[in-house]
Amino acid sequence: MVSIMEMNMAPRRITEERIRKKERRIAYLSMEIGIAPKMPTYSGGLGILAGDTIKSAADLKVPAVAITLIYKKGYFRQKIDDKGAQQELPYEWNPRKFMKLRPQSTEVKIEGRRVKVQAWEYRVRGASGYTVPVFFLDTDLEGNSEYDRSLVYNLYGGDERYRLAQEVILGIGGVRLLRELGYRHIRRYHMNEGHSSLLTLELLRQKGITDPESLKVDEIRKLCIFTTHTPIPAGHDQFSYQLARKVLGRFLPLKTIKAFGGKDNLNMTRLALNLSHHVNGVAKEHQRVSREMFPGYQIDSITNGVHAWTWASDSFRDLFTRFIPGWRSAPTSLRYAISLPDDEIWNAHAEAKRKLIDYVNATTDAEMDPEVITIGFARRATAYKRADLLFTDTERLRRIARKVGKFQFIYAGKAHPKDTAGKRLIKKILTKAKELKGEIEIVYLEGYDMNLARMLVSGVDVWLNTPLRPREASGTSGMKAALNGVPSLSTLDGWWIEGCIEGMTGWAIGSLDMKDSSDTKCAESLYHKLEREVIPVFYYDRRTWVGMMRLCIAINGSFFNTHRMVHQYVVSSYAQ
Ligand SMILES: *Cc1c(COP(=O)(O)O)cnc(C)c1O
Repeated sequence: MVSIMEMNMAPRRITEERIRKKERRIAYLSMEIGIAPKMPTYSGGLGILAGDTIKSAADLKVPAVAITLIYKKGYFRQKIDDKGAQQELPYEWNPRKFMKLRPQSTEVKIEGRRVKVQAWEYRVRGASGYTVPVFFLDTDLEGNSEYDRSLVYNLYGGDERYRLAQEVILGIGGVRLLRELGYRHIRRYHMNEGHSSLLTLELLRQKGITDPESLKVDEIRKLCIFTTHTPIPAGHDQFSYQLARKVLGRFLPLKTIKAFGGKDNLNMTRLALNLSHHVNGVAKEHQRVSREMFPGYQIDSITNGVHAWTWASDSFRDLFTRFIPGWRSAPTSLRYAISLPDDEIWNAHAEAKRKLIDYVNATTDAEMDPEVITIGFARRATAYKRADLLFTDTERLRRIARKVGKFQFIYAGKAHPKDTAGKRLIKKILTKAKELKGEIEIVYLEGYDMNLARMLVSGVDVWLNTPLRPREASGTSGMKAALNGVPSLSTLDGWWIEGCIEGMTGWAIGSLDMKDSSDTKCAESLYHKLEREVIPVFYYDRRTWVGMMRLCIAINGSFFNTHRMVHQYVVSSYAQ
């Protein structure tokens, strides 16, 4: 049992270097971690959430250590050509600029080959100086085969064989290397999504457990925690046992693996579910859907958050610091934003907006106007997020612009290289942008990353989100917007079911009724809200508008942050 006292035993003023490794209790494993804008080791929400979690753990002095892979060619660099086609360029970067390669090494077996694994250490420094190490595993080492070296080149690249081999490095290599690095007192392994769940098999193997009925299996469960992130069945990693046997070899008897990983396929989610003592979804609705998808399992919910300091714009950081001292280490105190003066909020926003509009006008041929209401939409370009919902009826859009008030749109987001539907979405938006040019200004910004995300969520006036229910497990960009006083206009899915107070923190598109989530129904509702609420309030009732901005910060910014979230993990997951 890890008591909370033990977890906080790091004495205040002792520097990190002197905190002994044996005090590290929590290992956090994630296929992607987005921690610094210039380290392209993430693709989207999952990685950013992992990074934000680690930052809050460092702020809160949670004795954690994190593991991921290094991805020497990153996810990819996005270019969009004149015809709206996305091009994927490698993102070459030099890890040496950010961290040090540790000399310790371990080995994993992949397809019978011994593959050497080392790690780069990056240290995340919290608000009070406490640091959490993040280890980026590397197999691009002398002695390894070309193929094995390439396993740490691309995030979400390659085929199933490549993916499974990466998961061997993450789950099995991660557990082994932690020991070599001197972390021998890990009491909890937190699997951030199923990609790392082979770690459960490594723990079984270390204890010599092959009988699935053995009482000792509970000792392994006690060590493991699982957070699922995907309400879409196809989103859960599965591998045929033929491939698993080929890649894993005789790692454990097949009968043992099947007992936990599923009869027909090696299902990484099932493996984690069967061998964890605490499982959670990332929003209340996601918990409900996950329970339906995996009946018979106890699934809790811990709603996601964002790291407040990271995502607040410079102007809001200043404002909060002046009026709410201590908010950085205790973002729940953002509730006191309820007494921020109108003009302070408006001015902080205007500064963030000016920066964004300047960037847009400097990097594209658009001529955006900072006085015009600006709506932002940036996320992975993939079908269920419906980036094109806005264009269901362009005639209607034109009419709203003419009759109600001018508005402009900023889009951004990468499509996975193999997601042809996602790529079509980007093309479609660019086509519509051309079509509407002169009436409604619309841009698609290239290279959505952490820096651009921060600029967008703080610089637009409204954050648009249109996922098809119930596919968005949580969504976090709307939380980043709320923190910057930016209301969301969103379908009721993921976090927004919890965060939406109609007319106060933003607006719902459609209702909670599933019959209401078809494209036509949602588009109708979207137009209606733009026409009757969003645009008129922005132009003709600025007081109400700023009042909403205030509530976004005080009600949603104070709650949907990773400090609150990590507290919940500590109490209901790590310390249980
Ligand atoms: C926050 C963030 C995301 C996740 O946004 P969602 O709303 O969950 O889709 C993706 N990419 C980047 C770069 C982000 O900063």
